[in-house]
Parts: sequence; C-alpha cells; structure tokens
Amino acid sequence: MRIASIIDISLVDVPGIPVTVIFTGGCNFDCPYCQNAEIIPRISGTEMAIQDIVERSTGNLVDGFCITGGEPTIHGDLPDLLRALKSTGLHVNLNTQGSVPSVLEKCLPFLDSVWFDIKAPSETYLRISRTSTNPWNQIVESMKLLLSSEVAFWPRTTFTRSLLSPSDISTIMLVLEGMGFQGEYVIQNYVASAGVRPSEKAHLKVPDISEIESVKDNVPAGIDVRLEWR
Ligand code: SF4
Repeated sequence: MRIASIIDISLVDVPGIPVTVIFTGGCNFDCPYCQNAEIIPRISGTEMAIQDIVERSTGNLVDGFCITGGEPTIHGDLPDLLRALKSTGLHVNLNTQGSVPSVLEKCLPFLDSVWFDIKAPSETYLRISRTSTNPWNQIVESMKLLLSSEVAFWPRTTFTRSLLSPSDISTIMLVLEGMGFQGEYVIQNYVASAGVRPSEKAHLKVPDISEIESVKDNVPAGIDVRLEWR
C-alpha cells in the first residue's frame, strides 16, 4: 500500500480520541477543494508493507488510529492493515468518500467509526469528484453497508458556495433520512489551506457561515446538523 505520511498524534481527527493518523497515497477523485492535493496522484507516497506500516504507526500515546488520504479504499490490501491495527485493541477510524464499496465491505469487521464524505447530491456529484462517470450508485451502496453494520457512521460535507447550494445540502439530508440515518450530520467550510492547489484556490471562495445557516430551518426528524466552521 502506498503511504504518504504518518502523524504520530492528532487530537482533532476523531472526537475525544487521540489518534495516530495514516495518510494513504492516491485518490480516484479530483475535488477542487482537496486539502491534500499533492497526494491525489496514484504514484504519490511510498510503497510500504503492511507490517512496516503497523510498526511505524504503533507505540504512540494514543487511543486509536485514523486512516485517511487520499482515498484509502482504492487500496485492495486496506482490510489487512485495518485487521492488524484492530488487533491492538485501539479505536480504528476510516475517512472515505465511499466510492469503492467492495473494499469498504471487507473493512467493516475491523472498523469502529467512519467519517463519510458525501460530496454532493447525485445530480451535482461530478462537479466535485470530476470523475469520468458518476460514482453515486457506489456511494449509496457504501452508505447502506455502513448503516446496516455496527460501525459508527459519521456523514459530513465540505461546503463552498461556488460548488454547492443550501438546496444541495437539503437534498443530501433527505437522502440520509430516506436511508434511515439518525444522528449528527456535519457541514464543514472549505478552508483555503496550504494543501489546496493555487489554481483551484483562485476559483473557490471561503464561505461565510451565514451562506448555509438556512439549512437548519428544515432538517428532517432524527438528524442533527452541526456547522463546523474552522
Ligand atoms: S476525495 Fe478527498 S482526497 Fe480525494 S480528491 Fe477529494 S478531497 Fe482530495
């Protein structure tokens, strides 16, 4: 598996749990607002054996692991890494956009929680993923897998007004409601961090929270919206 970097301790990636963060290299999407754009290419990072990743990632004063990227599920040996991390007895969290349900399904036995990035509703998905075909059916399949599992499902969406509208966010909430989801849905602002490509930054505007607050007026029963402005 290609590994871009490993951060020994993070206090912000999993709520209330200090974790070691493992960034896998490569992604099958090309989101304009990607904060880790330099690791989108499939050849990014370094090829590492599962055992070497585990040795490099364990032994820190943490209570868990967060596996992010890039898109971790493009790596067919991800379940092997998760199995090894889970055997430590610590919390295992995965960040994914859900486009590879066949791999995600094999990961489920070794996961405690998943941050699930819902990029957009079906109709506007390609505007953000910039893939050759719309992966919406795979996204839905992945959400169904998670919702029928014991794994904590934490949906979230990155908002910038030039790519999404409040109505898009409302549509996503209706999809979640239709799938039987109950719980917290996080909407976070796009941040023009150092990892975003300058060519993309030129077209993206950091949103003001007032641009999205209206979605709180019409939230389906059982869903709590949390606006996370960073
Ligand atoms: S899915 Fe995530 S890692 Fe991949 S391009 Fe989009 S924001 Fe970046």
